[in-house]
Amino acid sequence: MDDLLIRRATLLDGSGGEPVVGDLAVRDGRIRAIGPSLAVDATEVVDAGGLALMPGIIDSHTHFDAQITWDPYVRPSPALGVTTAVIGNCGFTIAPCRPADRELTMRNLTQVEGMSLDVLRQGIRWNFETFAEYLAQLRAGGSAVNLAAYIGHSSLRTWVMGADAARREATADEVAQMASMVRDAMAAGAVGLASSTSPAHNGEGGVPMPSRLAADAEHLALVEAMGAAGGGVYMVTKGGQMPVSLLEEMSARSGRPVMIAALLHNPMNPGAVFKDLDAISAANARGRRLLGQVSCCPLTMDFTLASPYPVEGLASWKPALGAQGAALRAVLADPGFRDAVRAELAAPAVFRLFNGEWDKVHVVEVADARHRALEQRSIADIAAEKGGDPLDAMLDLALAEDLATTFVAQLLNSDEEAVATMLNHPHSIVSLSDAGAHLTFFTDAGFGLHLLGHWVRERGAMALPEAVRRLTRQSAELFGMTGRGLLREGGAADLLLFDPATVGRGPKRRVFDLPGGAPRLTTDAIGVHGVWVNGALVADGRGLRGDAPLAGELMTRFAG
Ligand SMILES: [Zn+2]
Repeated sequence: MDDLLIRRATLLDGSGGEPVVGDLAVRDGRIRAIGPSLAVDATEVVDAGGLALMPGIIDSHTHFDAQITWDPYVRPSPALGVTTAVIGNCGFTIAPCRPADRELTMRNLTQVEGMSLDVLRQGIRWNFETFAEYLAQLRAGGSAVNLAAYIGHSSLRTWVMGADAARREATADEVAQMASMVRDAMAAGAVGLASSTSPAHNGEGGVPMPSRLAADAEHLALVEAMGAAGGGVYMVTKGGQMPVSLLEEMSARSGRPVMIAALLHNPMNPGAVFKDLDAISAANARGRRLLGQVSCCPLTMDFTLASPYPVEGLASWKPALGAQGAALRAVLADPGFRDAVRAELAAPAVFRLFNGEWDKVHVVEVADARHRALEQRSIADIAAEKGGDPLDAMLDLALAEDLATTFVAQLLNSDEEAVATMLNHPHSIVSLSDAGAHLTFFTDAGFGLHLLGHWVRERGAMALPEAVRRLTRQSAELFGMTGRGLLREGGAADLLLFDPATVGRGPKRRVFDLPGGAPRLTTDAIGVHGVWVNGALVADGRGLRGDAPLAGELMTRFAG
């Protein structure tokens, strides 16, 4: 007797091949049989006529490292079709971490990944110090999706160098200690090593995240340590100063794939992302495995001036970082501060999150009813009406409302022609959801549904079987997740049943379910009929099931 039979589904198997209509039977968490018309007995039978069945989505860029310790359902991802999440991206992990470094680690995450310090303090369960102990905690706690975890460069640095991690290059001895910890983590089951050299990645008070202080030799040594055992993927969110040629050398020396983030299209520097993709192609032509993480979502962030992530990477914003209350308001009101910000925005930059495109910054919600007429209007528009400067207009409004005004900025990746080209690039991977991070700024955990609905159905920018391949098998192969990412007999029953005619992600909305009742943005699935992880139904047409089992596997063995 089988546990589940899905009948008459349009099977998109993840290979990129043409779909076929057929049945799929599941037993003990695995796909037992696939055929045109299976004559089997099953406990549960789903008639999927007209619906499509694909392998569950693999989200290769999440930041669930902290959230998963209090929320094993990693909301909202499973309801959005994600059955496997890779955590630890950019190297911003919470393991390894000594008890004395916990506060600093949380303060850094608050800044770099936009996580509320109160939420982290109330939420994180710290029953570990080493990476292996962290994995043991995850295994004991269970999860609704399958997990693979990177060992994080910034955490290694903090463990070995303490507070100096964010101040200086490492000594040869310190690099050797980190390399040995990388080898231990790989033996414990890490999926690879993650790092960041991006100037957008700052910890508390605007101090660079530790991995940004690493010399090239340190990056190379750690990647070699990762590859020494014949496995692992190296991922890095790179700054403009880190050339693809260095990453090619890292792939060559380690013999391992390199994933490069965050390849987003910047309208103020539209050629940059294609230059990187061309360099990635050239490296592949020379036999290396380099892959660029691209996003199928425009990067749009909600923010208040109390914590304005989009501008916090500006050097001129530094006086405001770490300031609070009256001190922060004084900085924001200072004409000298405003002039410095204007000057920086007027100068060209290789990579910058916010580029002074004031027509793409809007007022979402005012705190004072007298300003209601400003909601939904752009800052450029509001400033033009007053005959003033846009930065002044935004800051003056925020100051008049005790910094409680909510703004939204469309930052990057909104040029649909350019993004379509990036999504179809032979060496790109559709990724960058950042699920688990920036919880009040944006929510792209539904990126897979957006690819299927917007890019495939609405724009016709990609064929459905190819989109499915890019969301499933491509990642499974890259990471060596054997038995996942394809609909095959004997493979894991990670499944997404959806309606191709309606699939998509709903509008973002705010919910208050974080520890202490703090808010986060979320989105609902559209056109999803069922999500199974290892054969267990975790979400249906109404979203995450209340009784969803924690059937995810913590993966610690990956094919070379
Ligand atoms: Zn990230």
